[in-house]
Amino acid sequence: VPAAPTSSGHPVVGVLALQGDFREHIGVVTGLGAIGVPVRKPEELDRVDGLIIPGGESTVIDKLSRLYGMADAVKAKIAEGMPVYGTCAGLILLADTVLDAIAGQQSFGGLDVAVRRNAFGNQLDSFETDLDIPAIDAEPMHAVFIRAPIVETLGPKVEALAALDDGRVVAVRQGPLLGTSFHPEITGDTRFHQFFLRTLS
Ligand code: GLN
Repeated sequence: VPAAPTSSGHPVVGVLALQGDFREHIGVVTGLGAIGVPVRKPEELDRVDGLIIPGGESTVIDKLSRLYGMADAVKAKIAEGMPVYGTCAGLILLADTVLDAIAGQQSFGGLDVAVRRNAFGNQLDSFETDLDIPAIDAEPMHAVFIRAPIVETLGPKVEALAALDDGRVVAVRQGPLLGTSFHPEITGDTRFHQFFLRTLS
């Protein structure tokens, strides 16, 4: 039996490293004093206290994770209650229902939400805005959206953490699962990652 990963007092955060901006997440959590490790193989999931699923392309991450046996392994960890944070494509992969998916696209699921891919269309592919996220901090957070999804329907156990001015939900929490449509890993604002790390204790 390997030593408990938290024995050093620093949580070990795995970042699913099949595609997307996993390096940025590893950089952020490392800067916050956690141990950020890329995760590509199922057995590597046994050595982490929590998992981040990065932004990128959900269709590609889905295909690669099924190819490498990661999809079932991640689903099992979610079922065991492992804290998981998904950004953008990562949020899509955590959603029980994916709208505007490509044919055959699957998700790990766990979040009782329906998420629509590429929800802002071609006109507004990418944009930035300030969001109020009262569960995290009184000061608003600058958020970057890149071909982003929105959370279209939320199950009864899902809490909306942030919404755009028009009411569309862009950050959610359900127990140990956290998801954002935007990318805190690229703005230098680490409050969302700190919020996630606090759930790993
Ligand atoms: N549009 C991408 C997808 O469907 C997500 C984009 C992102 O992660 N920045 O996976």
